[in-house]
This record gives sequence, C-alpha cells and structure tokens, in this order.
Amino acid sequence: MKNPLVVNALELLRRPGSLKDVVCDVEPDLVGLQDDRLAPHSNVDVELVCSSLSTGIVIEGSISARFHGECRRCLAPVDGRIDARVRELYQETVTDPDAFPIENDQIDLRPLVRETVLLELPDAPLCSADCRGLCPVCGLDRNATPCSCRTDARDPRWSALDALREQLPE
Ligand SMILES: [Zn+2]
Ligand SMILES: [Zn+2]
Repeated sequence: MKNPLVVNALELLRRPGSLKDVVCDVEPDLVGLQDDRLAPHSNVDVELVCSSLSTGIVIEGSISARFHGECRRCLAPVDGRIDARVRELYQETVTDPDAFPIENDQIDLRPLVRETVLLELPDAPLCSADCRGLCPVCGLDRNATPCSCRTDARDPRWSALDALREQLPE
C-alpha cells in the first residue's frame, strides 16, 4: 500500500503552479510516534497542501491530534486536542537554510508530522486555567470541596525552631 505521507515530488516539480492535497488520518505508528501523551486509539489528522513554486515545494496546512493526560494541579484526567499550523519548504538543491531536501524525487512528510506532534503535546496540562489543585495540607480537591486549611502556614518544623529560638536568651 502506498504511504499517504510520501509525496511524489517529480509530478509537482514538472508543473510549477500545481497543487496537491495530502489529507488523511494516520495511525501514530505510521509516523513512528509512540507517546503516552497521545489519546489511546486516536489517529493523527493531516491536512496539507503541497504547492509547486519556482523555488521548490511549499507544504502548508495543519496537523492535529488528541491528547490525554493528568492535570498537573489536581490530577484529574485531561483530554484535549493539539492543532498545529505548519509551513515548510522542500528543495531539490537546498539553497534556503530553512528548507528540507527532496530525496529520490520524493517528499517524506513523516518526520514533519512526528516532530510537529511531539512539539505540541503538552507535558503538564491543566484541566482548566483556574484549577485550584489539591490542598497541600489535607489533599482534598479544592475544585470540588473547599477546605479550611491554612495553606500559607509555615512548615511545622520551622515553627518548632522558632519556638526554640524564642527561648534563647538575647
Ligand atoms: Zn485540575
Ligand atoms: Zn485542606
């Protein structure tokens, strides 16, 4: 089976001005992605347009995927979606310092898809921007149950030291 993320560049380069759509959803394995931040059993959506220009082939569009993680403050499950815009230039003879090479008349989009997803996946997501997290004293989820702990209290070990210090003669 032909890989939808390997584009025949020859066809495009022969006809400057021509366009080719690459629209597919692929299993993460196909682009070498094995990352437990990706939502289980979900695919990576690729919607790219390849444009043949005099300078090379421009690949432009979006790459999106669903992620699954734990809120870094309250540990609740967090599901979301990354949606990255990309624009890259591919050249037969690389003259642009930011361009990628076209090898064997083909553009392999797998590294672009993999790197883009890896960059966008959140390491420490939040369930919401104003998540109040777990109480560091009693461990209650402060989003669900307000507690009356004084979280600005100093570490009890320090108050013991303070008490000792007060007993010392000046
Ligand atoms: Zn949270
Ligand atoms: Zn508490």
